Amino acid sequence: MPDCLFCKIARKEFGSAVIYENGDVLAFLDINPRAPGHAMVVSRTHSETLLDLPDEALAPLFEGVKTVTAMLERALAPDGFTIGINHGKASGQAVDHLHVHVIPRFTGDGGGSIHSVVSNPPKEALEEMAARIRKAQ
Ligand code: 5GP
Ligand code: ZN
Repeated sequence: MPDCLFCKIARKEFGSAVIYENGDVLAFLDINPRAPGHAMVVSRTHSETLLDLPDEALAPLFEGVKTVTAMLERALAPDGFTIGINHGKASGQAVDHLHVHVIPRFTGDGGGSIHSVVSNPPKEALEEMAARIRKAQ
């Protein structure tokens, strides 16, 4: 996608602090880091969300996530990680090129868990909800 910011970063037409790359993926530091080493991993294949990423790009993307997590572990010795995707505008996705955030976490850093991003429990019982979702397979 010619005008996509993360495609431009992947093609090196736009600068970024690259920490890892191979033929399929690129990882670079977030320009507005929420923690030391806050990185993002992107596929070189443009897709807005996981749902339109070609299947063959899935494993390379998540292998990239694993590699980068291991590199951050060795470089920064964090106590944990939050790894996640803002998937769609409602979730806070600001850049329309799928990216996986890898955020090193340190004991006492003041951050919350993934559970802290939303509190909107369903009205249906879990089994009803599960049945509705199973039908969509
Ligand atoms: P989102 O909310 O879409 O998951 O996050 C987009 C992320 O991209 C934000 O955390 C933001 O700081 C980061 N970002 C936006 N523009 C740039 C940029 O030009 N370079 C880098 N390295 N990160 C960017
Ligand atoms: Zn793109």
